[in-house]
Formats: sequence, structure tokens, C-alpha cells
Amino acid sequence: MGHPAVELRSLTVSYPGREQDYTAVSGVELAVPAGRFVSVVGPTGCGKSTLLHAVAGLRTPSSGRVLVDGEPLNGLNRRAGYLFQQDALLPWRTVLDNVAFGLELAGTGKRERLARAREWVARVGLAGFEKAYPHQLSGGMRRRTALAQTWIGDPDILLMDEPFSALDAQTRQLMAGELLALWTGSGKTVLFVTHDLDEAIALSDEIVLLSAGPASRIVGRYEVGLPRPRALLDLRTDPAFTAVYTEIWAGLRAEVMKSYERQAR
Ligand code: ADP
Ligand code: MG
Repeated sequence: MGHPAVELRSLTVSYPGREQDYTAVSGVELAVPAGRFVSVVGPTGCGKSTLLHAVAGLRTPSSGRVLVDGEPLNGLNRRAGYLFQQDALLPWRTVLDNVAFGLELAGTGKRERLARAREWVARVGLAGFEKAYPHQLSGGMRRRTALAQTWIGDPDILLMDEPFSALDAQTRQLMAGELLALWTGSGKTVLFVTHDLDEAIALSDEIVLLSAGPASRIVGRYEVGLPRPRALLDLRTDPAFTAVYTEIWAGLRAEVMKSYERQAR
């Protein structure tokens, strides 16, 4: 048996405060086997992004640690690609040059990087838009560009933080389908953060529920046994989907209410 792709051991992350530190997540234990699609859900502000930043190596744990393929993470996680809520598209670069950007930084020669970028632009359904600039694209198309930008580097691990949350509901479902098409058979490990339970269930093998903050911890882990490939547009009316949804929502709802009551005070 290999190591888990990502492992969190008693992970605690605190932010320094004026009076006292704020502990966002505390004692989080999680092992994500290679090739799994795992989503993290929880109320707004519970520490989902914090967790992902720790796995990305963008934030150092206050205690505990992150292991990547069994090795303690030290600095940036170079095995991982990131896709965050706001895209990092460079406005003065075309779609093609944005997609090729990571390869350019990595020193890949021009011919090769443009050829690979063209391939990726096509894979995310943007053939014909190679020369367009970000401001000429719809929100969905910008997300497709960002997907290509992340996947072109062929990372083993994908860290996605509410990547589709700025999109309208229909585009969001379509993008989820695009993401599954890319992921299926890729062997890549995905840690996907969302506050949208529908989206989490549609995509994931497993869903991890974080408690209301402060000092969030994992309070539920749920297997999503829905067969793949999944017909995402029909999933929500499937009784099996409703059953999983009902189970997880009971847990998530309780945490959302706790979080709401704590903030209202
Ligand atoms: P989520 O992604 O689940 O909405 P975050 O991980 O962004 O939650 O934040 C968790 C908690 O940590 C929140 O209470 C937030 O205000 C706090 N927090 C996040 N980033 C910082 C920071 N840089 N400095 C201080 N507090 C932060
Ligand atoms: Mg967040």
C-alpha cells in the first residue's frame, strides 16, 4: 500500500490577533488516498480555505503537520495545482498565453508550451478563443481557462477552493461536468472546497464536514456511493442522491445554525 496522497496529522492553524490568536482549525486528522475526489464542506468562515492553504503550503501550521505522499510538507506544495475562487488570469495575456504561463515559468520552450497550451485550450472547450483576452470571456469561459492553466502542469494533487461559486447555477453544473471529465481516469487526487452540498455530492467520492468555528474540526465523513460516470444534470432528482443529501445536510445544517448563532451574538 502506498502512502495517502495527502495526510493531515493533528493540524492546527491559528491567526495572530491583536488581543489573542484566532484558532481557525484545530486537531484536524485526515488521510486522502491517491486518486480520490474529496470535498470539504462546512459553514462560511469555518476554516475550509485555511485547510486548503495549509495543504498548498501557503500557510504554516501552528501545530501538527501536512504530509504529501508520506513526506512532511516543507514550504510550497510542488505536487499540487491550485484553483481558487478568483482566477489568476493575467488580463494583458491571451487565453493561450495565460494557459501557457505556468510552463513558461517552468522554462518549457516556446514551441512545446504553445502546442501543449493549444491542446489544453481545446480540451476545456475553448478552441477558437486562443487569442481572446480575459475581459472578452464569460465567467464560465474564464473558469475553463483557469482549469486549463491548472491542469497543464499535470499536478498529482488538485486543490480547488470554491472554484465555481461565482458562476450562475447552470454554468456551475456544466463546469462540474467538465471537471469530472478531466478528472476521470486521471488518477489525480482532488481536495475540493465548497459550501454547496449539491456540488460536493455530485463530484465526490467522500465528503468531509467541518464544524462551525472557531477551532473547527472534522465532525463527519460521508462516503458518496453514487456510481460513476454520473449524469450530473439528472442527479438531483435521483433518489440515491436525495438520500445522501438528506444524511449530510442534517450534519451540515446543525453546523450552519451553530455558526449563525455564534455570529449573531
Ligand atoms: P472558510 O473558507 O471556511 O469560509 P477561512 O478558512 O477563510 O474560512 O477562515 C476561517 C476563519 O479564520 C475565519 O474566522 C476567518 O475570519 C479567519 N481568518 C482567515 N484568514 C485570516 C487571516 N489572514 N487573518 C486572520 N484571520 C483569518
Ligand atoms: Mg473560503
